[in-house]
Amino acid sequence: MQFAVIGNPIAHSLSPILHNCAFKALGIAGFYGRYLLEKDTSFYFLRSLHLKGANITVPFKEIAFQSCDEVFGVAREIGAVNTIVFDKGKMLGYNTDALGFYQCVESLNPKNALIIGAGGSAKAIACILNTKRIPPTIINRSAARLEAFKSFECATFENFTPKIPYDLIINTTPAGLTDSSLPMDSAVLAPLLKASKFAFDLVYGKQTPFLNLAKSLNVTHSDGKQMLINQAILAFEIFMESQNISINQETLRHSMQNIL
Ligand code: NDP
Repeated sequence: MQFAVIGNPIAHSLSPILHNCAFKALGIAGFYGRYLLEKDTSFYFLRSLHLKGANITVPFKEIAFQSCDEVFGVAREIGAVNTIVFDKGKMLGYNTDALGFYQCVESLNPKNALIIGAGGSAKAIACILNTKRIPPTIINRSAARLEAFKSFECATFENFTPKIPYDLIINTTPAGLTDSSLPMDSAVLAPLLKASKFAFDLVYGKQTPFLNLAKSLNVTHSDGKQMLINQAILAFEIFMESQNISINQETLRHSMQNIL
């Protein structure tokens, strides 16, 4: 029983570690690999890999959505799929990023949120926050991608003079991942962070300038590691359910939680 994460680039992905660790802990004969898909390859090619399921990462989440025979849950609203199950020749799509994120912040009971960035993950987060009645505001450095948020009824900004404080400030951009940049002007960001309750960066495995700024202002903050683990647990549950394999939730959680 084989699964894989598919993206480009893919060498850095931690998903194989998480899923293989779960297989081992649960005593299930499964294997989870990684697959580098060339950017111009037709997504239908995946059907020939004889996988039972797959996770999809940058830059294929939207194309995965379009290529699925059926899409379930919040993935339909987001228009992006990060989890696929192959079932009797059909490709079924789900999105576990959105709930994986929400599980990280739900205990904070935020009243509102500011999302910096307007890419695929921003869409997933805006969508789940809307569903949970936590109004998101989106700010992006350029206008084009903000168009997609009109259907979510979010306030969107390219240039921004904040009028209200935000409980949650979420960086969904890769700013600071390979450089020392902030995702937006520090003169605007610093007062916003200071007035917030929690700063969340989707980037994981690195203390970004965004998180450093939050730390210097004594704002509670977190990187994206827990979101990564949460979305992997949810995806693993979908994979096993598709194979009619019942699993011990506690063992699954424990195995993924403690490996990274
Ligand atoms: P996308 O490429 O879809 O979107 C990136 C967004 O960030 C765009 O709106 C882009 O603006 C903006 N942006 C890019 N660089 C900068 C910069 N230097 N300064 C300001 N804005 C910038 O990416 P995704 O949404 O798919 O992923 C974003 C990040 O989140 C990645 O680092 C990814 O690894 C991480 N991620 C983490 C997850 C986790 O589980 N922890 C899950 C999913 C993603 P523009 O429109 O102008 O190009």
